[in-house]
Amino acid sequence: MSRSSDPSPQQRPPSVDRLARSLADTGLPHPLLVDAARTAVVEATAAGDPASAGSRARVLAEDTARALLTDVVNASGVLLHTNLGRAPWSPPMGDDRRYTTLEFDLASGSRGSRQDGAPALLARACGAEAAMVVNNCASAVLLVLAALAAGRGVAISRGELVEIGGGFRIPDVMDQSGARLIEVGTTNRTRIDDFSSALASHPDVALTLSVHQSNYRIEGFTETASVADLADLAVPVVADIGSGLLDAACPWLEDGPPSWLAGEPAARQTLEAGAALVTFSGDKLLSGPQAGIIAGQADLVAVCAAHPLARALRPGSLVLRSLQDLALAYLARDGQNIPFWRMATTPVDELRTRAERIAPELAADTVAVPGGGTLPGVEIPSAGLVLAGDRVAELRAGTPPLVARVADDATVLDLRTVHPDDDGIVAAAITGLVPATTPAGPTAHDEA
Ligand SMILES: *Cc1c(COP(=O)(O)O)cnc(C)c1O
Repeated sequence: MSRSSDPSPQQRPPSVDRLARSLADTGLPHPLLVDAARTAVVEATAAGDPASAGSRARVLAEDTARALLTDVVNASGVLLHTNLGRAPWSPPMGDDRRYTTLEFDLASGSRGSRQDGAPALLARACGAEAAMVVNNCASAVLLVLAALAAGRGVAISRGELVEIGGGFRIPDVMDQSGARLIEVGTTNRTRIDDFSSALASHPDVALTLSVHQSNYRIEGFTETASVADLADLAVPVVADIGSGLLDAACPWLEDGPPSWLAGEPAARQTLEAGAALVTFSGDKLLSGPQAGIIAGQADLVAVCAAHPLARALRPGSLVLRSLQDLALAYLARDGQNIPFWRMATTPVDELRTRAERIAPELAADTVAVPGGGTLPGVEIPSAGLVLAGDRVAELRAGTPPLVARVADDATVLDLRTVHPDDDGIVAAAITGLVPATTPAGPTAHDEA
């Protein structure tokens, strides 16, 4: 090879190791920086531009850092944002010197049950005899069906054979549990007589299942069998209420239940209506970490707890400790210490005042939603900041990232989902935006 075709030192790509070391300020561990550096060198060499390896490696390393699970400020106005972990919660234990009494009975010094703490408190808070906690509501339904109905029939209305999202389809869960689906009635109308006939013609039915149509509504010519009616039949009713509203009376709220909550099934009232068990999520209206709760008759909860799947679906101490704090807040009727309820019930005037303080010229009334596949169509009056144009990508690129939404070609930052302590972050993010280069002149939103 002739000397003249050798790359000059400036053109030669830097060594992968040296390049990786030059990225140490990103805070990533060395092996990840080596990955970025190696990819950048290969790409830059292939592109005939070895000198670009340095800047390319930095971009790749920053992409890697940004792909890590990280805290964001949720200014979307969606209280239970499915992509942002639904309800906000903070890990309760920041101290790695400590063990916990997860399965230890302090009085006797012998083995205890992890289902004695948070689950018992949650049972107390919704008036159930007993409760247990599993990984999420999908696993709660799976476990209940497997433990109580494997090899037998489960009767359910055709109007409730729903898909909740993320691949949770009742017929598929039923299949996995080993229970046999017995469809009752029609999509829009199912009467209690339909259930009676189904039970008469299928003597092996173990239970009836009532599933809350969480994320959609059937309107018009409709009829459903109530839990109270189902409870009069010869087999237990299991109600998958999904959202985890503990009590329709909301005793943890000074002013009682907000009007937009109307009709949402609650654990206490569903059990009072005669459900043998209810299942619900920990991270929807309950406002805790991802978890699934099975609550109701103690004998049935015990059968679920004794099933081999219970071990596979059990939560760890992080979740149980967080749920314990949450259950104590519910029992103390301290809604201000329960993130979803604090955010959902903040007076709109308070949000307006915060918006005025952040940027008076951008303050506007907005509309928040509960989200998380609960309460479809429900809107909660709110306030925030409205900027012309679509600026959400720039806001997401900030530190910490800020998640806003676009509506009618404007960027909406809703303060209902922002902790007041983060108002300064919102203010700085707005100030930091490069002024939009759109031509001056009236837009549809100048009057808004
Ligand atoms: C959300 C929901 C589920 C699934 O809950 P996960 O906790 O996400 O597993 C199941 N059933 C109903 C009725 C729901 O609303």
